[in-house]
Amino acid sequence: MDKHQTIDLLSAIAAIDKRKIGQTEVNTWHMILGHLDLDDALQATAHHFATSTDYLMPVHIVTGVKRIRADRLDRSITAPPPAELSDDARAAQAWLQQQIKKIADGKAVNNLPALPPGERRPGPPPTEFERTRDAMDDDDGADATIRRAALRVACPHCGALPGKPCVLSGTTTPLKGKPAHDARIEAAGLS
Ligand SMILES: [Zn+2]
Repeated sequence: MDKHQTIDLLSAIAAIDKRKIGQTEVNTWHMILGHLDLDDALQATAHHFATSTDYLMPVHIVTGVKRIRADRLDRSITAPPPAELSDDARAAQAWLQQQIKKIADGKAVNNLPALPPGERRPGPPPTEFERTRDAMDDDDGADATIRRAALRVACPHCGALPGKPCVLSGTTTPLKGKPAHDARIEAAGLS
């Protein structure tokens, strides 16, 4: 979320517990929670106030959002990587990570439908899925794998050549915040 969304989040919290919000509070909360999605953070906040009388701290939201993302993954599995990636283990792994990231983000993926909230898959999930998911606790690690795999093609969006990272269009500044442009991830067969 951006700073305006952090203000929205803090306003929602203050509506319940009447805390005071100034620029310092906004900056500090944004530093801690800025990487989270606003809707997820609001959902975690609602869950906290519905289930606890503890004074809400950022850690409650971080933990709550983790739970929301884990729940999405528990209700969904990805299909196997596309056949054209079957001879490239690293690309297949990156494809799987990309799918897992999307599911955790609550985005639709081209795979088996999710179960209704609260339900769990019958039986254990595919080993490959679980192993990849376990290895993904560190989001940056997942991004790095996807970035490396996407390097095999040129980026149709920013024009980065094969082997070169994506840049902010019209500059030489490496792209931050995501591993590569969506168009390149798609071009590499990873979306
Ligand atoms: Zn690019």
